[in-house]
Amino acid sequence: MGSPFFIGGNDMRVIAIDYDGTASDHPKKVNALYDNQANFIVINTARPEYLREETKKELKELGIKYHALNMEKIRADIYIDDKNCGGLRWPKIVKPKYSSSQEDSTATSSKE
Ligand SMILES: [Mg+2]
Repeated sequence: MGSPFFIGGNDMRVIAIDYDGTASDHPKKVNALYDNQANFIVINTARPEYLREETKKELKELGIKYHALNMEKIRADIYIDDKNCGGLRWPKIVKPKYSSSQEDSTATSSKE
């Protein structure tokens, strides 16, 4: 695959869809997007590269249609992206992940 900025060509809308818990749970929704010829579907997963063939096999078994499979996206608990479905949203994170009692002093408001 060439530069990720040119995948699908300039005329296509590139849609990156997480695999586990997203595409894997909603194959019909992925396929509906794929069936629109203006869309270029990238299955985007944090799975390691060595699981590529296994992942392709799963995608086939689930009947998921896609144009490209991107492995090893950065693993994150929360993605904040201006290309988010529904637009950019800054989550209000109240509790630090590894503490059940402390308030998170770094919490941000979506109004900031
Ligand atoms: Mg997921």
